[in-house]
Amino acid sequence: MDKKLIEELKKKLETQKESLQKELKSFANEDPKIKHNWDTRYPNREDGDKDDQADEVQEYDNALSLEYSLELKLKDVNMALEKMENGTYGVCENCGKKIDEKRLLACPEAKTCLKCG
Ligand SMILES: [Zn+2]
Repeated sequence: MDKKLIEELKKKLETQKESLQKELKSFANEDPKIKHNWDTRYPNREDGDKDDQADEVQEYDNALSLEYSLELKLKDVNMALEKMENGTYGVCENCGKKIDEKRLLACPEAKTCLKCG
């Protein structure tokens, strides 16, 4: 694969990684023991009365599902960056063929080619 293209995609992935981490950090803590794992903080409102408790549970629920999808995306981004290090980037995990460059430009963390994805 073209080195210039790899560099460009790497930059994209790193920007994505940063913004995902920033977003996760705003409501979750990174697990120091388990790699790529985040724990959503329970909303702790100091001025909350009893009526707010249902809201808090709802808020926590929303945060959990958001955390889940952000975490998955971050995992994919990290995997793609690891593959670049190993030189296995840009190959479909399903059929082993090269992933189309246009697809990678649109979605640098893609793990499969258009046919398989
Ligand atoms: Zn494929």
